[in-house]
Amino acid sequence: MGDGARASAPAWRRVVVKVGSSSLTDEDGRIHPPRLWAIARGLLALEEATGRTPVLVSSGAGAAGRERLGLRLPLTLPQKQAAAAVGQGLLMLEWARALAPRPVAQLLLSAGDVHERERYVNAKNALRASLEAGAVPVVNENDSVATAELRLGDNDTLSAWVATLAEAEALILLTDVDGLYDADPRRSPDAKRLAEVADPGVLGAEVAGGRGSARGTGGMATKLHAARIAHDAGIETWIVGGGGAALEAIARGERIGTRIAAGRTRPAREAWLAQQHGVGRVRIDDGAVRALRSGRSLLPSGVTGCDGTFRFGDAVDLVAPDGTVVARGLVNYDRDGVVAIAGRHTREIASVLGTKDYDEVVHRDDLALIDAPARTGVEAADPVAPEPAREDR
Ligand code: GLU
Repeated sequence: MGDGARASAPAWRRVVVKVGSSSLTDEDGRIHPPRLWAIARGLLALEEATGRTPVLVSSGAGAAGRERLGLRLPLTLPQKQAAAAVGQGLLMLEWARALAPRPVAQLLLSAGDVHERERYVNAKNALRASLEAGAVPVVNENDSVATAELRLGDNDTLSAWVATLAEAEALILLTDVDGLYDADPRRSPDAKRLAEVADPGVLGAEVAGGRGSARGTGGMATKLHAARIAHDAGIETWIVGGGGAALEAIARGERIGTRIAAGRTRPAREAWLAQQHGVGRVRIDDGAVRALRSGRSLLPSGVTGCDGTFRFGDAVDLVAPDGTVVARGLVNYDRDGVVAIAGRHTREIASVLGTKDYDEVVHRDDLALIDAPARTGVEAADPVAPEPAREDR
């Protein structure tokens, strides 16, 4: 099954396993207990091999609730909310049975829990407390109340965030294909599986294949997106097929599926910042780019302008003259303030604004440099954008 056995099980401090709807439900969307129980055995095998409880991100609520309520596609938004509300209970009931006697801890997150710093820290504490209490965390998106812009939209992306929250070393995406291919295997018979990817930033649309199954949301594009988030946070990602048996194989030390290496590890706050979407942009000059890259703060003199609106404390992108986002940071002034002091010396701040709260526009402690994408032979034509969530559930 694998590319060759490794001597021992992976020595991960923490692993997050994401299970897609297609791995948990049958053709009708009903939860399929034998599949789910096999995955539970795989999780326990990973726990035994690593000595640490894995964190589970489980999809399947929407599909199970839809089936239980007898709802037909396409669903209205309130129907989707009801399906998630009903299905989440069914899903947890089955996980609680399958993982017994271990308690299971249900954590339902939405976009704000990963993008707002205070809520992020709160979610992180809840996860840690559940693990310390001896429970197996089972995470899903809070689909019954998180709609439209409040959503992350797919559990691949959610699981990458959970891996960051859990300070995991590995993220396993369990799906119905056995890895990433160099072309879409459904269209190209010669498509080859990529066993090892050093940098997901250089992979393009050709490996993304397309949509997942009718019951799932993601497909390969969202998996690649998740792998990029994980890579940037110093976490390796495995994309594997084969249900619970695949987890057991990994626990035995086998190399299966596609392994996407971790990027450099960063302190937790910096890792969080690097993964935010800047709510606005601050344009900076070349001197400021050099200053940031050598570890210094952004001062008003290096600012040339702003795009979008932002408030004090928001995450903003710092953009070089050539348009590259070189860093992201928490800004010390609102947009009007930054526009007013752009290009000025620090000592002029008080006279321009009437008050000076900070010397820096972004302090170096609140800043994460964004790595320039590596250039390699596998350069792809189009970068893969995560596809929007399906609207059919
Ligand atoms: N959170 C959704 C569910 O539990 C699944 C989203 C996904 O499949 O990516 O049904």
